[in-house]
Amino acid sequence: MEYLSTRNKSVKVAASQAIVKGISDEGGLFVPVQFPEINIDKLKELATLGYKERAKYVLSLYLTDFTKQELDYCVEGAYADGKFSSTEIAPLYNLKDSFVQELWRGPTCAFKDMALQLLPYLLTVSASKSAKDKKIVILVATSGDTGKAALEGFKDVKNTKILVFYPNDGVSPMQKLQMTTQEGENVSVCAIKGNFDDAQSGVKSIFTNKEIAEKLAENNMQFSSANSINWGRLVPQIVYYISAYCDLMKNGKINAGDKINIVVPTGNFGNILAAYYAKQMGLPVNKFICASNKNNVLTDFIKTGEYDKNREFYTTSSPSMDILISSNLERLLFEIFEKNDEEVKKCMTSLSENGKYVIPKDVHQRLLEDFDAGCCDDTQTLETIKETYEKENYLLDTHTAVAVKVFNEYVDKTGDKTPTVIASTANPYKFSKSVLCAIAPDEKVEDEFDTVDAISRISGVECPTQLATLKGKKPRFTQICEKSEMVEVVFNMLGI
Ligand SMILES: *Cc1c(COP(=O)(O)O)cnc(C)c1O
Repeated sequence: MEYLSTRNKSVKVAASQAIVKGISDEGGLFVPVQFPEINIDKLKELATLGYKERAKYVLSLYLTDFTKQELDYCVEGAYADGKFSSTEIAPLYNLKDSFVQELWRGPTCAFKDMALQLLPYLLTVSASKSAKDKKIVILVATSGDTGKAALEGFKDVKNTKILVFYPNDGVSPMQKLQMTTQEGENVSVCAIKGNFDDAQSGVKSIFTNKEIAEKLAENNMQFSSANSINWGRLVPQIVYYISAYCDLMKNGKINAGDKINIVVPTGNFGNILAAYYAKQMGLPVNKFICASNKNNVLTDFIKTGEYDKNREFYTTSSPSMDILISSNLERLLFEIFEKNDEEVKKCMTSLSENGKYVIPKDVHQRLLEDFDAGCCDDTQTLETIKETYEKENYLLDTHTAVAVKVFNEYVDKTGDKTPTVIASTANPYKFSKSVLCAIAPDEKVEDEFDTVDAISRISGVECPTQLATLKGKKPRFTQICEKSEMVEVVFNMLGI
């Protein structure tokens, strides 16, 4: 399987190169030349297997320059016993008429672990093929969860260094504490004065700067990305949607071949794109429902065909979705433009020059065949957490609550009874303040861990150990920089 760039189809690379490079030189993203097929018989067969075996199979279709031994090594390492708090890795929870897929059972309590536990393995194996002996420098821009998941995945991985930039006022206290207390010899963390979009464009421009790349090369180093622009982030995410379908079949909730809906709380469009890719492979899906918070640029785009980031940026209770420039949408455009790289390039140029673009009517129509969208504000988010807790005795985090709310509205609007999987992206304790405010607004608390204790006392839901033990831990990383200082911070960290 070869990969080409969304902005220049003549750029063709192997999977391992796509993973090491992260982004194509001209700024495009790597996408598979075509999608491998997975038929119903294969799904039935996968339904009899565990998560790791399902993962090995799906990965083998895409990472064709990896040997079977290499894939076994990567998958067994990433999802080894004890790393995830469920032996099923990504279990389904039956919430009313829908199925919540708990994707946050990994070490950092967000769905990012599903891919970022695997990525370091994929990257080191890839580097051994195409970038021998070079030190890989991972730069990450995070809206909160990617940063910690990447740090945890890459900590003390040989021949790698990792540097995370996060928006100083744009992450939850638990997310900040998780990152600033990170252990490991090869890690570094820096806050920036700006929002996630600033961090992401800063990192992207460092990646595509030739002079910086040359300076790294002189020092036998090379950049790569752990953000969802990296193909190595997306491919592990395709696995869990296929796995959810297998589980539904196995448990008799659907018959083989039945269609399902998939609802995803969306920011950078990586998670929902992976679900769309699963459908391109043959997974029977009726609709993808894209759920946004008050930063509803994607809702508007899906409804109207116009993407316009020229709008107010809001800091919300679901910070991991506070994004106005959704990177992976570029990959969806490439598919709905029927792989026309020139058209994608035009849109992306218009986005960077004018902050907006419009897709033609027929292309928009194609989009609407697969996608529906909705958004909700913080008040509705908290109401949804409260209602779900009181009526169903199930605690949602703020991001998943956005998805549940948008899904409920979709059902009211359409009457669609298709069995539905809702991607649950974080453990509620990562956003304790909002969760407590939803379930017990009158509770008096002093600080973050008071809040944690109150939630646990009231709900009886235990706080994951890896979060509870952050209490009292002293931050290692306290640097805050201006957007314009990011390059300097990178060079300082690398000592070059
Ligand atoms: C990253 C994140 C999202 C958004 O996922 P995308 O792939 O960026 O669309 C949603 N919820 C949580 C908790 C996240 O960490």
